[in-house]
Amino acid sequence: MIWAASCSGNREIGGRIIIARVRRIGDISLNQAFLIATALILACTLALGLSLLGYYYRTLRDSEQSLKRISAFGDVLFAASRISAERGPTNAALGLERSENNPALRRLSAFRQASDQAISRIASGPTLGAAVDGLRDRLAKARREVDGLLAQPLAERSRDGIEQAIFGMFAAYDATRPVIDTAMTDLLASDPALIGEALTARMAGELRDYAGRLGSYVVIAIAHGEPMSDVNRAAFEQTRGRVLQIWDAVGERLATHQSPAVRGAQAAAAREFFGAGLKLIDETDRRLRVPGGSATPESFTNAIVPSFTPIERLRDAFVDAALARLSIARTEARTALVFASAVTALILIIVLLLLLASRSFLFEPLMLARERVIDFAEGRLTQPIEPRGQKPEMRHLFQALSTLRSRLVDREMLDAERSRLTAELKVQADTDGLTGVLNRGALERAVVQLAEAQEAPSPIGLILLDLDHFKAVNDQYGHAAGDAALRLSASRLRGLLRDEDIVARFGGEEFAVVVPNAGEARLAEIAERLRRAIEGKPFPLDDGRAITLTASLGVARISTAEDVWPELLKAADGALYEAKRQGRNRVVTSQAAG
Ligand code: GH3
Ligand code: MG
Ligand code: MG
Repeated sequence: MIWAASCSGNREIGGRIIIARVRRIGDISLNQAFLIATALILACTLALGLSLLGYYYRTLRDSEQSLKRISAFGDVLFAASRISAERGPTNAALGLERSENNPALRRLSAFRQASDQAISRIASGPTLGAAVDGLRDRLAKARREVDGLLAQPLAERSRDGIEQAIFGMFAAYDATRPVIDTAMTDLLASDPALIGEALTARMAGELRDYAGRLGSYVVIAIAHGEPMSDVNRAAFEQTRGRVLQIWDAVGERLATHQSPAVRGAQAAAAREFFGAGLKLIDETDRRLRVPGGSATPESFTNAIVPSFTPIERLRDAFVDAALARLSIARTEARTALVFASAVTALILIIVLLLLLASRSFLFEPLMLARERVIDFAEGRLTQPIEPRGQKPEMRHLFQALSTLRSRLVDREMLDAERSRLTAELKVQADTDGLTGVLNRGALERAVVQLAEAQEAPSPIGLILLDLDHFKAVNDQYGHAAGDAALRLSASRLRGLLRDEDIVARFGGEEFAVVVPNAGEARLAEIAERLRRAIEGKPFPLDDGRAITLTASLGVARISTAEDVWPELLKAADGALYEAKRQGRNRVVTSQAAG
């Protein structure tokens, strides 16, 4: 239970945090969101570009390393082949008398130099160093044995000594194997896919050495002047079998090789060594087995050594083809890297330009348009609308905004005009055209409003004023003079009253005055003042004449309540009638209302 409760509590807290985060994301402004999106897009593009560049860079570095390693491997195989080749002039020299300017000795010395140079070219790294030192020692030892024999006259050189010297040279070649193994391990560590090429190149190197050894066994027999010993024959036959075996294996591997140089060297090796050379070895061997047969080591060596050359060429051509292939791969990798860099840079520039363009052509104008729409909605129509952005869509949007604004401005002006006209109409509707005071309808509405506006009942007074014998005025002075007299009466009445008192023309030559909050005495006093104002001064006409007028006034008073008007009017009208009846030019106050 406790566990379940704490679990659901955690879920609730987690849920609140998520909701809070979502709200926070929702709170981000469009501008911030745009900047974040821009940064994310640029970062993703950059990451994508860099991973692509990294891939191509690694491919280039790997291909350069493979090229370096296979070149180093080629150097090692070349040095081994030089040591193998050194046996030819060695064998030849061992069968010759030592003398000054002996061409065989000069040749031997040149071959030794070539071997030494080839060994010194081997890139001696930390791994190869020990194996190369071992090779140098073994070669030096073999050469010392050879030189020891060469220092002796030909006749004094023992058979065993010659055999040992030749076997010493075999051993010097054998000392190249640890070097080749180490170089091959290095090569395959950097590029395991090169195993096929490395093995074929190595086999071609071995082929050259074993072929040379076949010759060396024959040279030993020649030097002995008798057929090969049983031990050497067994080794010879074994080596011969191995040579043929390796040749078959190399043939299989090279069956589909494309390089013309490789195929040419292969055909030459088949012809010159596996045809003529092997035949020479076998024939010389056979002749040595026949009593009286003879050959010198030098003549045999001179005849057999050239047949090894195509095998050496085959190995060189094969290594060269591998180097060329890797060099093409390196060029391709370099081109791909340059291309990928250019494309990545281009994409970055395009993305950046797109983002900047979308900001200035789309985002900023839209934000400005949004501000203007908000301005319109909130009634601010004076903001200028300069079109933002060069694109037609945005220009149209701002033109539309401008049109919208002029329409809104027009509508606002129309609204103002309508309000003014409405107000004017209302004034006209409420006003008496002749005198300028309120008309009867407006007076009645004003009284209703007054009654409604009162919170507590309060007295309201009505004075009805009717000019006496006005018909006679018209008759005597004319209708226009009557109108003028009505206008002057109205303004005279208005001039005597407070602002809150309401004056209206009630009909014909009859006026009404509504007095809010009027006490009885004050109401009577106002009525009297009005009567005297009419009677007191004649009304001057434009033609110089003046009209003397009197008026009869009926006064009524009532406390404000709903629907007071008819009762008030009735009372005031009654009082007016009474004033007329009593002889006019007087004020009668109604006793009915109030
Ligand atoms: P009384 O003392 O009984 O009120 O007599 P009176 O002549 O004033 O009464 P009556 O109601 O018979 O006549 C009103 C006259 O007011 C009739 C009409 O010629 C005149 N009158 C009404 N309205 C106007 C107006 O707008 N202009 C002019 N010039 N005369 C008007
Ligand atoms: Mg009248
Ligand atoms: Mg009258």
